[in-house]
Amino acid sequence: MKNLWNINAAKNYIAKYNKINVHKDLALRIYTTHLLGNEKKLVLHGGGNTSVKLETKDIFNNLKKVIYVKGSGWDMSNLNHLGMPGLYLDPLKKTSSLTKMSDENMVNYLRLNLLDSNSPNPSVETLLHALLPHKYVDHTHSNAILSLVNLKNSPKVLNKIFGKKLAIVPYIMPGFQLAKKCFQIFKKNTNVEGLLLLNHGIFTFGDDAKQSYDRMIKYVSLAEKYINNKKRKHKYEKNKVNNFSLDLLIQCRKIFYQIDKNKWIVNLHSSKDDIKFSLLENIDRLFTKGPVTPDHVIRIKSQPLIIKQKDLIKINKNKNNLNVLIKKYCQNYISYFKKNKNQIKNSKISDTIPRIIILQGIGYLSIGRNKKEIKISNDIFLSMKQSILDSCFVGTFKSINQKEIFKMEYWPLERAKLNNKKRNILEGSIALITGGAGTIGQAIAKKFINEGLEIVLFDKYFDYNKNQKLFDKCLCIECDITNNNSIQKSINKVIKNFGGIDILVSNAGVAFQGLMESINEKVIKDSFDINFFSHQKISQKIVNIMKIQDMGGSIMFNISKQAVNPGKNFGPYGLAKTSTLFLMKQYALECGQYNIRVNGVNADRIQSGLLTKKFITQRSKARNISPDQYLSNNLLQQEVLAEDVADAFFNQILLKKTTGNIITVDGGNIEASLR
Ligand code: ZN
Repeated sequence: MKNLWNINAAKNYIAKYNKINVHKDLALRIYTTHLLGNEKKLVLHGGGNTSVKLETKDIFNNLKKVIYVKGSGWDMSNLNHLGMPGLYLDPLKKTSSLTKMSDENMVNYLRLNLLDSNSPNPSVETLLHALLPHKYVDHTHSNAILSLVNLKNSPKVLNKIFGKKLAIVPYIMPGFQLAKKCFQIFKKNTNVEGLLLLNHGIFTFGDDAKQSYDRMIKYVSLAEKYINNKKRKHKYEKNKVNNFSLDLLIQCRKIFYQIDKNKWIVNLHSSKDDIKFSLLENIDRLFTKGPVTPDHVIRIKSQPLIIKQKDLIKINKNKNNLNVLIKKYCQNYISYFKKNKNQIKNSKISDTIPRIIILQGIGYLSIGRNKKEIKISNDIFLSMKQSILDSCFVGTFKSINQKEIFKMEYWPLERAKLNNKKRNILEGSIALITGGAGTIGQAIAKKFINEGLEIVLFDKYFDYNKNQKLFDKCLCIECDITNNNSIQKSINKVIKNFGGIDILVSNAGVAFQGLMESINEKVIKDSFDINFFSHQKISQKIVNIMKIQDMGGSIMFNISKQAVNPGKNFGPYGLAKTSTLFLMKQYALECGQYNIRVNGVNADRIQSGLLTKKFITQRSKARNISPDQYLSNNLLQQEVLAEDVADAFFNQILLKKTTGNIITVDGGNIEASLR
């Protein structure tokens, strides 16, 4: 592992934090915390922690020893001084005389000793940091170290590599007891430069930020070198799964919904390497033993569901076999909970849904409530995968026992890291918006993202310079929605990323103009292609997906007031839109039985790619009014915005008993009102 310490960068941190009165020792602490936190092979998503001890004056002007330690759940890659709460050190040190301390007492005691009562909770490993005498203490869950501390004969291997430089600490879950144990072991040989925590990770310490960081990199590199020297090839099974349909992902979502009554997102990983990994010999034996470090279990549970080749072949013949396997996994999880629930007072079972499903010969799925969760579970799984695979070269992989896994998974202090707010009612729902790069498409996307939905945008072209911030939050797919092949390819990408589609906003449109008495027929045909057939093409495909999902759905069309109230010169546009209005009604009629609701929005005079500034000027001049008057020429006398249209679409999603409906968003236009 490369040592990234850079004296100029260190000085920059000191200078930057000096401006806001942050002590240089703490600034350097933040610097090396970032160095560690940005290395995925060391820590991930809120894992690991660091600290620094220094002296500061209290309000009575007395010099006090204090410790700054990472806040619980804060991310080492990007935290600032606010994520490093300060505590008075001496009261923390006194706890070493206690034999017992409950978690509640520990958390309370830590909070009582904060320098700033508004600080976040300090790490659950604060006492461990406090009891060690060194100025700087660094803790990571390095992949290479985890390969070595999760072996049947770890102590022997560790002694061989690190000698007396690092002391070995047996597994104890984080908290007061672990802090005490580490301190006892450290006292036996105070010359050690760090601690190896079995089934957990590594601590290093030093007199300055650089020394502690250097030691971390040095010992992790030693571990990596040892493993590399022992590397050989893994054995893989031959791939016998020769057909695979993305329907499998849709089926998974459906089964999760039946079990959990919530929507889940399913992401397929099927690169060459993923497929190869899935075929690893003995994968089911290796990957069901437990975590490589305890704080992974809250993110990905202690085991993935592994579907072997023979079972996938059976599933290909009869989909119900998938149902049986997933339900068995969930049932086993319930049994595990019941067996162990007395370990933690008042523990309530979490969901039973697996976070990783390995599909032998296909790759694997990562599963979560939202995109962020999927990213976390996937990153954690990848690091677990690396540690387990590498452990095979140096010994026999061995995790903690089930009781300890449960204690960690349901430990209230650990669960607090999940920030388990109540699930947003639409969380896990996937919305596809066509014409997504346009003004109205973007407004809808913004609204839906704020409401917790996952967004896919289809459009011919995305200009990332225009709205990168929004597009980065969406899955943007370049798609020609007048072409069946292009639509199918794009939908496949959506299924691969999310496992299904719950909401379609068929929004794309182009305003074709001309007088009917003189228009070329091609213009009418072109208008029908985009303003009618594209709606039909995509709806047909989405309805079929929604039927497999068996979770209902909402399909919405951006129609137009033209569908009911013709405007001069707008014949080619209005004709197609009228057909789309009918299409909406026809789908509503046909899909009601599947709980798929089909509705529309009739908007008018929204400034967008269709209604440009130039166009507005022309129209207003023709009527002898100002552009503003033109835009607010409605019953409410107010301009109608793309955001108003977005609100209408969003409300259609919420109206669970409404189908075949049109909402008008035109500020009031009696001629265009439906009767
Ligand atoms: Zn840890």
